[in-house]
Amino acid sequence: MNFHPMAETSFPVQQIRRDFPILDQMINGYPLAYLDNAASSQKPLAVISAIDHCYRHDYANVHRGIHALSERSTAAFEAARHKVQTFINAASEKEIIFVRGTTEAINLVAQSYARPLLQPGDEIIITAMEHHSNIVPWQLVCEQTGAKLKVVAINEVGELDMEQMISCLNDRSRLLALTHISNVLGTINPIVDIITLAHKHGIAVLVDGAQAVPHLTLDVQALDCDFYAFSGHKMYGPSGIGILYGKRELLEDMPPYHGGGQMIQTVSFEKSTYAELPHKFEAGTPHIAGAIGLGAAIDYLNEIGMQFIAAHEDRLLDYASEALAEIKGLRITGQAKAKSSIVSFVIDGIHPHDIATVLDQLGIAVRAGHHCAMPLIKYLGVIATTRASFALYNTTDEIDRLVQGLEKAKALLA
Ligand SMILES: *Cc1c(COP(=O)(O)O)cnc(C)c1O
Repeated sequence: MNFHPMAETSFPVQQIRRDFPILDQMINGYPLAYLDNAASSQKPLAVISAIDHCYRHDYANVHRGIHALSERSTAAFEAARHKVQTFINAASEKEIIFVRGTTEAINLVAQSYARPLLQPGDEIIITAMEHHSNIVPWQLVCEQTGAKLKVVAINEVGELDMEQMISCLNDRSRLLALTHISNVLGTINPIVDIITLAHKHGIAVLVDGAQAVPHLTLDVQALDCDFYAFSGHKMYGPSGIGILYGKRELLEDMPPYHGGGQMIQTVSFEKSTYAELPHKFEAGTPHIAGAIGLGAAIDYLNEIGMQFIAAHEDRLLDYASEALAEIKGLRITGQAKAKSSIVSFVIDGIHPHDIATVLDQLGIAVRAGHHCAMPLIKYLGVIATTRASFALYNTTDEIDRLVQGLEKAKALLA
């Protein structure tokens, strides 16, 4: 597939759909409409082939062998790191750490950056819209150190309360950890302003980018974030591989997170010394094919162009928001001005799980539940929501089917 810059309205979605073999199937007698992309997105042939090619032709362990396959595997693995670096515009490959996903990246920062720094009474700041992955690692490190967790509230449309954010930052604050895009509300947080603000107080910022990387053009140097975490599987790459970006001077000072092979320089029973970045944080055999698959996903996204993907997904969001607003008794939870292609909603008198079950009968995959954000769901005053989330291969026809399915659910259940 080879794209050329195109007019916005000519986004070749049908051509793109053919790159995703899984989309071409019937579910319960209907064509699959996959609208659960915020949980995980599907994989293009380019990614599937890259993984297949790795195992068929080049596979061996990386960094250790002096033989052809190991050299090829190592080159492909390190090429993937370079692709990630370029994709997010990091200053150096040393700042790109391969991890299992967003969750592991945040745990790494909690244990290797925050834990040695925190004193009893120090504060970690998060927000009311965080995924469990960006709550629990901080609770653990607070228990370990006597530090406290502070939570910045959101307003009724699902935007951060910036006044409260400002009043939260003080000389006991050690780290601000917040999501770039909420996986429940779709809110895009003004992280440039927030990072600038935190840095004025000398506070480091970790950004949870799990939802942002597949949707926005990212430049970690322009953002000036200290850490940025994301997962391969939400950006059309494999599961089990993800990235922690960290500023080099911070990573250099941090102790290793896991100990083992690959992350050492020398080992003796008295003392071991650690490898250079990024290997210091990559103990053990990594997910080699996963990293290569992630590199292929990045090539695929670059070929289409992130700006065209964002524009397409924004159009889907507008279309869906308008269409859903027409449904009586439906309330969209999350109406921030800046939103990505995620729509959560509740319908009077119908449990979100029942909505999702009716939609599945019609071949439409959505998610219902707490979306790994139980504190946020409680905050919204609901028991759960139904969430439709759109990716580059979704169409307005699928949104029409979603709307018809919701009318059917209402007729059956309300
Ligand atoms: C999915 C998600 C995570 C967790 O990602 P994993 O791949 O499960 O580690 C964290 N934060 C947000 C905002 C997410 O959407």
